[in-house]
Amino acid sequence: MPETSNLHIAVVGGGPGGYAAAFLAADLGLRVTLIDPELNPGGVCLYRGCIPSKALLHVAKLINESRHAKNWGIEFAEPNIDVARLRSFKDGVIKKLTGGLGQLSKQRKVEYIQGRVAFESSTTLRVSRAAGSEDSLRFDRIIIATGSRPAVIPSLKLDTPRMMDSTSALDLSEVPGTLLVIGGGYIGLELGTVYAALGSKVSVVEMLPGLLPGADRDLVLPLHKRMEKIFDSILLNTTVAAVKAEADGIRVTFDGPEVKERERVFDKVLVSVGRKPNSEIPGLEKTQVKVGPRGFIEVNKQLRTDDPTIYAIGDVVGEPMLAHKASHEGRTAVEAIAGHKVAFEPNAIPAVVFTDPEIAWCGLTETQAQKESREIKVAKFPWAASGRALTLDRPEGLTKLLIDPQTERVLGVGIVGVGAGELIAEGVLAVEMAALAKDVALTIHPHPTLSETLMESAEVFFGTSTDIYRPKPR
Ligand SMILES: Cc1cc2nc3c(=O)[nH]c(=O)nc-3n(C[C@H](O)[C@H](O)[C@H](O)COP(=O)(O)OP(=O)(O)OC[C@H]3O[C@@H](n4cnc5c(N)ncnc54)[C@H](O)[C@@H]3O)c2cc1C
Repeated sequence: MPETSNLHIAVVGGGPGGYAAAFLAADLGLRVTLIDPELNPGGVCLYRGCIPSKALLHVAKLINESRHAKNWGIEFAEPNIDVARLRSFKDGVIKKLTGGLGQLSKQRKVEYIQGRVAFESSTTLRVSRAAGSEDSLRFDRIIIATGSRPAVIPSLKLDTPRMMDSTSALDLSEVPGTLLVIGGGYIGLELGTVYAALGSKVSVVEMLPGLLPGADRDLVLPLHKRMEKIFDSILLNTTVAAVKAEADGIRVTFDGPEVKERERVFDKVLVSVGRKPNSEIPGLEKTQVKVGPRGFIEVNKQLRTDDPTIYAIGDVVGEPMLAHKASHEGRTAVEAIAGHKVAFEPNAIPAVVFTDPEIAWCGLTETQAQKESREIKVAKFPWAASGRALTLDRPEGLTKLLIDPQTERVLGVGIVGVGAGELIAEGVLAVEMAALAKDVALTIHPHPTLSETLMESAEVFFGTSTDIYRPKPR
């Protein structure tokens, strides 16, 4: 076995897990080959996930804000939407970022191969280059970072551009008159928000009793209320029994106790029912890598698989399937390969839903605490008492801290409101640093900002918040 510093590493997949791993490995002095089918690194996150969706959501926010401005005495005309220009703005952002990653690969002397990979053994990869040639390449260590793809329900598969997944929805080929989003998870709600702002009449169907299953209900409530206004309909406890392509649209049959209209025709349907790990890599059976029942590759805390030369990171190893989790796992895997004493064991991985309002949480959630019958104290600060929220005319938000009643340590943070995705970073720091509620209360926050709501929640825990009044129990 070569010295750690002479190792040649292959990283399979150039998403936020793969490129972070490849770049750090190069920075640590290892020899690195990064292989991905795209022209440049970026993966789902940059080409058809986080980045294009957030570019479009920014535009949606602007449109919604301009419509809302009439409440402040400022009336704008309805926007004239040039879909082709909007598409090229989004594509331009993708090109800039992925091109930048291509540059960074070159600067670090990472060998980037545009191609796909199959395993020949635990150390040899068959690399099929996009340009046509094929090679067998030998490596000392291999990091699998092949990510995930949209889940498909066979009965909802129709070969027509009217049926979309998140990738084709982000292509933004047109703005349909009516759109049905199947699945009330974060991807469906984010994309539904975009299309609604652009002028589609959007309906959402979710088989469970609430949107964003898994998130705390008090955080979802303000979002649900606002979505009732921007969406045509939200159908809960409802499944899609059948879809049929017709000349003028997709005929959808609904099933469920609350269904009023059994059949409806939509111009387009977006299927957004979760994601599947890309673990069916050709030849993987020639290694000792184990794949679990849900398709995730099994790894230990160093991200090493059951095969001592192979590591795996990102969406392909499990939930939460989020870009920042993938890149942190990438770092840990590389450091482990380089011989550092490391383990991936975060206290808090933030989750953000970039809807309007945004929802964000980290660490322990109330839902999880209830499931585990864990005793916690919850301190909530309603944004109706936040000066900053009122200046923005967005008082519907809420910030809460989940606190250990014995140690007074902050175990989790949940926020709903505009900008929650930025605010949660402070919560992550508090949970990771094992901050006490007192630490958060004593940290002077700038006024007037939404960040004060974190400090105020801690004050609520001690009954000392001066911005809300709670009569003392007699
Ligand atoms: C619409 C949408 C919005 C999202 N928004 C967010 C968000 O706001 N925030 C967030 O954190 N996450 C978001 N995500 C999730 C995020 O994109 C993923 O968690 C993240 O991209 C996972 O990174 P990864 O490195 O594991 O793999 P991926 O980004 O999936 O990259 C894997 C790469 O491996 C390549 N590959 C697969 N098989 C092979 C093979 N055999 N050989 C070579 N290459 C291969 C793939 O083509 C791909 O390029 C979003 C996802 C979607 C779909």
